[in-house]
Amino acid sequence: MRRPFALLLLIILLCPAAGLAGSDDFLLGVKPAPSDITPAFRSEYHPNHENCFWCTPMNINDEEAVWGMLTAPVTVVDINMKKQTVLYAEPDESSEAIGMVTGQSQALHVLEQYDNGWSLVETYSTSFHDSKVKNFNAFVTGYIQTKKLKQVQVNQNYGIIIDKLTQRLYLFKDGHLETSLAVSTGLYNSKQPYNETRSGEYLIIYTKTGALIDGNMHCDYALMFNAADYLHEVPYIKNADGTKNYKPYEPKLGSRASHGCIRTQKNKNADGYSMKVLADLIKKRKDTNCIKMVIWEDYEGREVIIPDDDTPLYYNPNGGSMYHAVADCASVKSKFLPLTQFTYGELDESPYSKLTICPYCMPTPRKADLEAINQEHQDSSPGEVMSYHNK
Ligand SMILES: [Zn+2]
Ligand SMILES: [Zn+2]
Repeated sequence: MRRPFALLLLIILLCPAAGLAGSDDFLLGVKPAPSDITPAFRSEYHPNHENCFWCTPMNINDEEAVWGMLTAPVTVVDINMKKQTVLYAEPDESSEAIGMVTGQSQALHVLEQYDNGWSLVETYSTSFHDSKVKNFNAFVTGYIQTKKLKQVQVNQNYGIIIDKLTQRLYLFKDGHLETSLAVSTGLYNSKQPYNETRSGEYLIIYTKTGALIDGNMHCDYALMFNAADYLHEVPYIKNADGTKNYKPYEPKLGSRASHGCIRTQKNKNADGYSMKVLADLIKKRKDTNCIKMVIWEDYEGREVIIPDDDTPLYYNPNGGSMYHAVADCASVKSKFLPLTQFTYGELDESPYSKLTICPYCMPTPRKADLEAINQEHQDSSPGEVMSYHNK
């Protein structure tokens, strides 16, 4: 008698969990569809290294592969962390310089190490506006002297993925996807091609979380990852009365908007995470090795998942102007909780069609917006500023 009862209990326990799987995904805001495309998509080499960032497909569902990649050592250039060096077209310093690499924080994909003292490597060129080689975010394969390289161990508790496709930060903790936050990566234009955030594999090497101030723009909790590139909170400007005004920048979270830095949401999401919480966690980490942060390029052929129509959403029928991912969103006064449920399929119908995205729980965008992302990426790679593919 006991065994069938236990089995029944197991089924009862498992069923709600299975039913919740969709809404768990939904708490992550936007999820990239599984893909075979790797960060070395444009490479002519296909070495298939184990736990290698460059060889691991951009597939967030494969937690084991992602975790192996996020916790594997990296190869960096052993020069000042504020300095850059070049990659050459040939194993010869008189050959053409084809790309820029930042010291200490930017990782390289090592393809070959030759007896002549040179290594064949690849990476995204991290050119800034004043760099010697202006090859902005271009994927390059070139040569560097092996003696300039060193291998570095990374933090074994945390790892971060920034996905340009979904404009989300995915935090991995102890082998699992812990939470996601909305971000804005760089938005380039013809005059400022260097605004595109440089993709690739990095270490967050600076743990003192200060503020970056650029004119009237203040960015709190700034963490350096690539000489002049920072992961920081969504900026604010100061009002005449001294209060913080996030309105010019916060509504752009979830889309490209910055000058190269990664702006991250300031409001606590449904899991209790925000840029401040993330910065504190990085600062107080027990494993003091640097945390790896990788930036996935949004190559053609990648897609976002469009949630099922029956995925639950929430709103406040008594005058609420936003839609939410959770019934008890922290942005809503407790007298209006719990929020009223409706479904993703009803979002474009009255009275839900006018609701805007809650900047706390950051629910998934409307179907038309997700379809537009997929449409754009069918045959273009928006981040490839310098590539012949976009010329
Ligand atoms: Zn590899
Ligand atoms: Zn909310």
